[in-house]
Amino acid sequence: MVNLLPAGVIVDRAMTVRQSWAFAIATGFKPVENRGAMCNYLSTVALHSSRTFDGYGRLPTGAAAVAFEQAGAFSGLWQPDSLSATNRDPRLALGALIAVVDIVGCHHAVVDDRGGVCCAPWGQATHRGPSGRIRRAVHIELDKPRVLARPIPQGGQPLLLWRLPTNVSELLATADRYQPPCEKRE
Ligand SMILES: [Zn+2]
Repeated sequence: MVNLLPAGVIVDRAMTVRQSWAFAIATGFKPVENRGAMCNYLSTVALHSSRTFDGYGRLPTGAAAVAFEQAGAFSGLWQPDSLSATNRDPRLALGALIAVVDIVGCHHAVVDDRGGVCCAPWGQATHRGPSGRIRRAVHIELDKPRVLARPIPQGGQPLLLWRLPTNVSELLATADRYQPPCEKRE
């Protein structure tokens, strides 16, 4: 087993994302998260999978869609109720911390003359907030997702970044990293 985080690194913020988008971030396909506000927190954060999922969201690249299908797709989503060992794919968990990821920057969506959006197909031109208000999207730039061997059950919040309970940060600090059984090696 490999440690999820280097020794001494504390992760105390989390970002909640619905499936299947959380899978796409955790697997390294989705390099931006669409939000409605700028983020000045450039650090490693926990990726939290919402309890509800976006069954209408189709992953916009063939490779990501195939990976999601192979992992188990929507019928493979599951809700961990403890930290006990399981052979289920941690990237498909609901209502849990499933990975850590680095926030490395953020920028407002840029749309060119022909309607092309920077960071397409993952980055969107607009973002609909929890209140339904639509505004120009902010692209939160993500890098180096690392998946937890065992998802940590946890409720989430709609905020871009919310503070993790101290005991959950401590669990992350000692967590093992998931090694996919048939990870592509190059
Ligand atoms: Zn962009």
